[in-house]
Amino acid sequence: MLDPTPLDTQLAAQTEDRLRVLVVGAGMAGLTVAQLLRHNGLHPVLVDRMPRMEHPGYMLALMPLVDQVFIDLGIRERYREESTPLRSYRFRAHRGKPLRTDSLGELLSVYGDYNGIGRGELVHVLTANGCPITYGTTVGSAQPDGAGGSRVEFVDRDGAVVGTGEFDLVIGADGMHSRMRDLLSSTPAQRLDTGWAGWVAWADDLGSADLGEELWGDGFFLGVYPVKDRLGVFLGGPIPDLRVGPSAFVDDVRERLDEVGPRLSAALDAVTDDPAPCFWHLEDVRSERWVLPGGVLIGDAAAGFLPTAGIGAGMAMEAAWMLARMLSHADRESLTAVLAEWERIEKPRVESAQSNSRMLAKLMFRRGRAVAWLRETVMRLLSVRAALGPIVKLVAARPDPDAAAERVVRAG
Ligand SMILES: Cc1cc2nc3c(=O)[nH]c(=O)nc-3n(C[C@H](O)[C@H](O)[C@H](O)COP(=O)(O)OP(=O)(O)OC[C@H]3O[C@@H](n4cnc5c(N)ncnc54)[C@H](O)[C@@H]3O)c2cc1C
Repeated sequence: MLDPTPLDTQLAAQTEDRLRVLVVGAGMAGLTVAQLLRHNGLHPVLVDRMPRMEHPGYMLALMPLVDQVFIDLGIRERYREESTPLRSYRFRAHRGKPLRTDSLGELLSVYGDYNGIGRGELVHVLTANGCPITYGTTVGSAQPDGAGGSRVEFVDRDGAVVGTGEFDLVIGADGMHSRMRDLLSSTPAQRLDTGWAGWVAWADDLGSADLGEELWGDGFFLGVYPVKDRLGVFLGGPIPDLRVGPSAFVDDVRERLDEVGPRLSAALDAVTDDPAPCFWHLEDVRSERWVLPGGVLIGDAAAGFLPTAGIGAGMAMEAAWMLARMLSHADRESLTAVLAEWERIEKPRVESAQSNSRMLAKLMFRRGRAVAWLRETVMRLLSVRAALGPIVKLVAARPDPDAAAERVVRAG
């Protein structure tokens, strides 16, 4: 459970800590790192600019990369209860006909769970052991103190100063549009804008609770992804075409489809029935450096993901887990070396998954019937294993954070 806590109380709790850590942003990366550090005996200060957590939520498919987070926190059973196993993936042709169904379960189960979960449920799971947080608060300025740490001024949502603090490590986990990235780094991040966007909505469970489906249309994209007892729906298209609004766009999509069956039909209804479906711009961002003079970046703040490979939250949580495990070996003296090693190991892994997502976006977000036919010819031959090849490699071979941290600490 998220426990709203005054900033002063959080600051007072960490005065005796081996490392005084500030986590800015309580999304998947921020919650993961804060909870793991607490589990290791520290009292990181956690702030989020939102007045409370009322994110409308969307569906997340979590790769086995994240299992160790739940195992370390002792909440794996809770995670399994709140999520649903994803066993198959169906790819449909641009007019709706099923082209192939692959067994994802078989591909990934050797490495662990591959489950669908709502974002809100994931927050509940990660905070099951309790989680102090100060809402409505962010960082106004962070000045390196010359000894590896930072002096931070906290501000409220109106920009009024609400406190100050000194930290050995500031972790910017404030998502795709990170303000911490602008505060900490002088180099502009690299951005990719697909020119597409889409609506997220929820449909009732319509059977086939372990089957994800995607329809890569001619100028639109429709995906349905099960979570526990519900189906997450994403309908996307080129931004100028979406300006007509969800109802008119759905009508247009229906025109372009042959019979798609009750499941996808209900998914389209869900987009029009929702009075205010969540709207997402399909863009990403890549920061040149993760370890910066005043702190580090993590999750979407470091490398923001397109949702095309369903791996952004997975990589954010893996990077947070790696960082927390490596920090359990660090003190103020070894911190700089441990952080450098974390970036050296983890950044290429995350960027490889991000490149895989970008490659899929190039295939998915297309217009034109000839392109659609060509793509379907390729997809008949290309399995999910091949499409997600680089990600499967990451899942299969995760580095050992304890050995990596011990190596640099020993080297002094
Ligand atoms: C529609 C959709 C579907 C997706 N599907 C998948 C999927 O199936 N599988 C998967 O692995 N990933 C998926 N992703 C990607 C995944 O959601 C993100 O990669 C992941 O949430 C990144 O976590 P994060 O903690 O870095 O950022 P976020 O989860 O965005 O959290 C950032 C937090 O920082 C807070 N914040 C923002 N600015 C400030 C500030 N200035 N100060 C303080 N706090 C601030 C925000 O309130 C928020 O709580 C999907 C994304 C979308 C949009």
